[in-house]
Amino acid sequence: MSTSFLNRNSSLHCSTNLSINGRHRQGPMTCNIIFRKHLQSDTSRSFRFFCCRRYDTFNTAAHHFSGSKQNLIVSCVRENAPKYFDFLVIGSGVAGLRYALEVSKYGSVAVITKAEPHESNTNYAQGGVSAVLCPSDSVESHMHDTMVAGAYLCDEETVRVVCTEGPDRIKELIAMGASFDHGEDGQLHLAREGGHSHHRIVHAADMTGREIERALLKAVDDDPNISIFEHHFAIDLLTSQDHEEIYCHGVDALNSETQKVSRFIGKATLLASGGAGHIYPLTTNPLVSTGDGIAMAHRAQAVISNMEFVQFHPTALADEGLPIKPTMKRTNAFLITEAVRGDGGILYNQSMQRFMPLYDERAELAPRDIVARSIDDQLKKRGEKYALLDISHKPRGQILAHFPNIALECLRFGLDITQAPIPVVPAAHYMCGGVLAGLHGETNIKGLYVAGEVACTGLHGANRLASNSLLEALVFARRAVQPSVKHMSLSPVLNDLNIWARPVFPESLKDCIVDDINSRTREVREELQSVMWEYVGIVRSTGRLKNAEQKVGELEEEWEKFLFRRGWKTTMINREACEMRNLFCCAKLVVSSALSRRESRGLHFTEDFPHVEESRRKPTIIFPASPGTHTWSTQQKLFFLYYIIGNDAKFDISI
Ligand SMILES: Cc1cc2nc3c(=O)[nH]c(=O)nc-3n(C[C@H](O)[C@H](O)[C@H](O)COP(=O)(O)OP(=O)(O)OC[C@H]3O[C@@H](n4cnc5c(N)ncnc54)[C@H](O)[C@@H]3O)c2cc1C
Repeated sequence: MSTSFLNRNSSLHCSTNLSINGRHRQGPMTCNIIFRKHLQSDTSRSFRFFCCRRYDTFNTAAHHFSGSKQNLIVSCVRENAPKYFDFLVIGSGVAGLRYALEVSKYGSVAVITKAEPHESNTNYAQGGVSAVLCPSDSVESHMHDTMVAGAYLCDEETVRVVCTEGPDRIKELIAMGASFDHGEDGQLHLAREGGHSHHRIVHAADMTGREIERALLKAVDDDPNISIFEHHFAIDLLTSQDHEEIYCHGVDALNSETQKVSRFIGKATLLASGGAGHIYPLTTNPLVSTGDGIAMAHRAQAVISNMEFVQFHPTALADEGLPIKPTMKRTNAFLITEAVRGDGGILYNQSMQRFMPLYDERAELAPRDIVARSIDDQLKKRGEKYALLDISHKPRGQILAHFPNIALECLRFGLDITQAPIPVVPAAHYMCGGVLAGLHGETNIKGLYVAGEVACTGLHGANRLASNSLLEALVFARRAVQPSVKHMSLSPVLNDLNIWARPVFPESLKDCIVDDINSRTREVREELQSVMWEYVGIVRSTGRLKNAEQKVGELEEEWEKFLFRRGWKTTMINREACEMRNLFCCAKLVVSSALSRRESRGLHFTEDFPHVEESRRKPTIIFPASPGTHTWSTQQKLFFLYYIIGNDAKFDISI
């Protein structure tokens, strides 16, 4: 296992063995503790009223209910009082919801989500979910395709687990009401995408994620043990330390409708907060994907891995090439699924010259990283802003049946894809790295599990195979259940929840000052995104990465100084500032990881080390930051465990 001591704030303290799923990973951990004498008297364990909103289905407007369990909103008697649950789930995409539906069989569940419940990467997934469902296909073949795409950096055990358990996870989804396309023979229609050697993509036209999200939210709505807290922004995990072990006890979350902070206490917590696409200015990810989970976990001393592997999707819709330009800049780029290339779509430059065969013998069916780099190269060489993806040579009926959503979106802007090519450009799409997880989603923090895009399970290695991420989320959400239930049943009662300083909304600052802070924060966000695009994009070099490291560091320092000059305090939070510090954190993790990989592999291509080096076929590991160098952006909430459960209490949990 390679080690990288990555950003300026990350430094090695004492070395310890990390035991993740019995696979011991040698690594350093910090043992420093921060004490904060901030006691509040407003928490009362007898006060178990909570404020929640039940959600119907993703398509209907959320509304308040009263009365029955099914349609319940218990009024917010005291938002300040801690809310107790057996299980906390941060995120309501496929990973969070699937886990919630399993653990609810064992206890109460709070799903905390920062926007509307359906707003997630999951909801935008087009292509589908891969699984071995055809008799002529095999687990070995799926494994092989995954590892080839992952440039042999994948963890073979993880790949085997995911490919083996995948088919059952799909069958469960169908049993829960998800409806996928069927062929004329009545069997599931299995599509094929780049990098897959078989037809194995289960899909619902080109809106697969939306169908999965709909089915899961409906099931959650019918489950009396699950409460969804929408518009609740998870700020920081509440952790404690006992010798070398760190424990997670819950999370503070800002209700962005009331601007009050709620403290959620849970016996087991699943982090399922998705990716970090918004560290780049052009991304297919919705606005919620700001890397909050990765940053939160990093601050809480979780081990992070493989952050250099950012997948750029080669074909996002290039708005500037549309006959009618959208009046407003989109917050997330519209994806043109790779299935268009799988169905025979051909890439051209603006002179209608087909270019992919010049770069790879698989032409348009080459893996995403190669296609993205080829488009990037064409655009740079020709000084063009977008390339063209043409599917119009295929029968009109087939195009409209396979890509109804894409056809409709393009038509809104005057483009008939059955007649003319689609303007496309690469966009940040998927984070292969994340919080290091074992085979059951466990992390180095006891009681904290991860699943979905926030996790680095070892499945994707250096590059994600198309349609493997929904699958990974389903498999790991399920695998995290058993250890979570065990942890939940052994967790002691906490007797002091006030040791963690309460974050506060900056009510004491004048509105004009907060406006000023928010406005500067928006500018800084754009500046960070353009640094990342320019210096940490599809093609990298050591010089450009070092430049990025310096610029990001300076920008963060300047931004923090600006905040504090305006009267900001270390306990203050609002959504804009929290997202900004999380974006900074993720950007720095990407840059540092990229600098430490001195080879080109999968999604990480650097001009200075353009070849694969067998001796460097190891994941990048980022160990916790040193508390000694903490700024507001990197501070954490960590206490001695005995402060919370008492000196004699036992808290011996292993899976
Ligand atoms: C356009 C697009 C197309 C894709 N197509 C495919 C495909 O065809 N096949 C495939 O396998 N994969 C696809 N992917 C990737 C796949 O959709 C994601 O990897 C997967 O959905 C991730 O699921 P998740 O549950 O981990 O995270 P998400 O679905 O992103 O959910 C994260 C949740 O966490 C919440 N959250 C985030 N931060 C906070 C916070 N601070 N506090 C509270 N809540 C928070 C969000 O609001 C959201 O509810 C696609 C992705 C995109 C963007």
